Amino acid sequence: MSVVDRQEWDVVVVGAGGAGLRAAIEARERGARTAVICKSLFGKAHTVMAEGGIAAAMGNVNSGDDWKVHFRDTMRGGKFLNQWRMAELHAQEAPQRVWELETWGALFDRTKDGRISQRNFGGHEYPRLAHVGDRTGLELIRTLQQKIVSLQQEDFRETGDYESRLKVFQECTVTRVLKDGPRVSGVFGYERESGRFFVMEAPAVVVATGGIGKSFKVTSNSWEYTGDGHALALLAGAPLLNMEFVQFHPTGMVWPPSVKGILVTESVRGDGGVLRNSEGKRFMFDYIPDVFKEKYAESEDEGDRWYDDPDRNRRPPELLPRDEVARAINAEVKAGRGSPHGGVFLDVSTRMPAEVIKRRLPSMYHQFKELADVDITAEAMEVGPTCHYVMGGIAVDSDSAAARGVPGLFAAGEVAGGMHGSNRLGGNSLSDLLVFGRRAGWHAAEYAGGAARPRVDDAQVDTAAAEALRPFSAEGEEPVERPPENPYSVHQELQQTMNDLVGIIRREHEMEQALAKLAELRVRARRAGVEGHRQFNPGWHLALDLRNMLLVSECVARAALERTESRGGHTREDHSAMDRSWRNVNLLCALTDPTGGLAGTDSVRGQIALTRETTEPVRPDLLALFEKDELVKYLAEEELYE
Ligand code: FAD
Repeated sequence: MSVVDRQEWDVVVVGAGGAGLRAAIEARERGARTAVICKSLFGKAHTVMAEGGIAAAMGNVNSGDDWKVHFRDTMRGGKFLNQWRMAELHAQEAPQRVWELETWGALFDRTKDGRISQRNFGGHEYPRLAHVGDRTGLELIRTLQQKIVSLQQEDFRETGDYESRLKVFQECTVTRVLKDGPRVSGVFGYERESGRFFVMEAPAVVVATGGIGKSFKVTSNSWEYTGDGHALALLAGAPLLNMEFVQFHPTGMVWPPSVKGILVTESVRGDGGVLRNSEGKRFMFDYIPDVFKEKYAESEDEGDRWYDDPDRNRRPPELLPRDEVARAINAEVKAGRGSPHGGVFLDVSTRMPAEVIKRRLPSMYHQFKELADVDITAEAMEVGPTCHYVMGGIAVDSDSAAARGVPGLFAAGEVAGGMHGSNRLGGNSLSDLLVFGRRAGWHAAEYAGGAARPRVDDAQVDTAAAEALRPFSAEGEEPVERPPENPYSVHQELQQTMNDLVGIIRREHEMEQALAKLAELRVRARRAGVEGHRQFNPGWHLALDLRNMLLVSECVARAALERTESRGGHTREDHSAMDRSWRNVNLLCALTDPTGGLAGTDSVRGQIALTRETTEPVRPDLLALFEKDELVKYLAEEELYE
């Protein structure tokens, strides 16, 4: 057996972003000895990058807001494919989670009368995003870390050991979920710095690893987003839900090339920024789809009046859900009305005084000044779509966050599917992390408390270790003796393939081409080799991440090919309309090799099998929150009849 460090915990949380930390706090507070593992430094999760805010219907700025309005907006944004029970829980519990953060020390921006301030965002009927300038994620993570430290201090007072009940293992990557029969028995991973392997034995594992953006070339996501949790779940036998839905945020930087894809927060538009094409036209008025016609302004005057008098005017179309704005920008550029570097113009300089811009959007001001030498208080930004978020993810139970089919496995945050349907509204991720992070931690602790301790199978540990070591002994191609593949080249080709062939606008023949290319890359990735040793070796880390990115990319491409309609983040040029008969259809991805490759060292053989399932009908009292005229636009014929 390989040499590995072993520890026993009740709950292991993989990921230390908002979802993972909230899960860990809850599990520890409910009495479970909890370990948190993250592959980056503690505090450097993706959540820290979140800018605009947390969506929660607190009604601080407009008292008309409540959870029902938030629920309606979320369902509309997701084009009614959302797992409605998740959307309900999320809308109901988000305010409580934000207030709780405040009691733990978070300092949000305030209204004039001292309440938590809330700002406008696309698709939200009222100002709803609690924020800290445009650095909300930083405050969220800081607060959760502070809460963890305070729990550890409590434990020290009782046990003499800060880490007796809650311990964070940073710069450690999990590569496998281990199983005892059908249920979870722990995780296998390696320390990034030393390369040493470890096993954490635990009856419950919460996956909170975030998204998949690094499979695409132009993305707002950082190096961590290689789809690890999605792949870990698949390999453990849990299906992924609706992976075709990938969000392309409408506004990423387009220039200079080295920063292409970096996010330009939606707060810029929420605070009054407008989009113009090369002819100076505010083109979004030409792109309001029928389903949203009644809710958006028809003229620039009305849209501008809305900022001061939202009760008597309709909002400007720059604040349509992200999928609509991203498609509109794409169409303008394609029609030859783009900016010099292939985007469009986003302007706040003519809309707000310079000092207001610097106060409300400090990060954006510095980002453009330092990275592009553009002063956003004096000139327009150039922006274009960037891969930002994945709506698809691990299929979970709405109430408990338990992953389907694998007892002991839970998932929360961006890695979990269902909550956002086909398109996420801005601000709904940070609230999702808190609501379902807490639920995952709660139910994982409860499950661990009632389960017999599982047995870790040494053969699985050996297989996982052999899999992790394979890049050091990768062989060249036969019969012509070629050197092993370079993992960086394989990654670049994967990103280009996903960007060009499974990107914002999709076509059948291109997705077929993508699947063929992915099959080729999968073979090459198995020959990806690295030199040197296991101490901090980024090439080795990437070679291991390739397995995950390829699995997840195949899920995206297969599901996108299957869904012959356009809905939310999935746009088919050859099926350009939303089709009501697809409204109640979920696509599930599973591995065709049900052992997840654990039986042998060849884990990547597994291909993706797709199945369709009918969604659970929306509960009648929730449907009653909508006008019938609106439901007709979304629901399938038989659903309306019922
Ligand atoms: P993360 O915060 O990314 O955490 C993932 C964790 O998993 C990390 O600790 C990582 O190290 C760890 N991990 C990953 N793989 C492994 C592995 N194999 N082993 C061990 N650990 C692993 N949403 C909003 O609601 N409002 C906003 O204003 C907003 N702004 C955003 C701005 C930017 C620039 C970006 C990129 C996103 C923004 N989002 C926003 C989206 C939101 O930030 C993310 O969806 C959310 O933070 C995801 O949180 P998470 O806890 O699921 O994952």
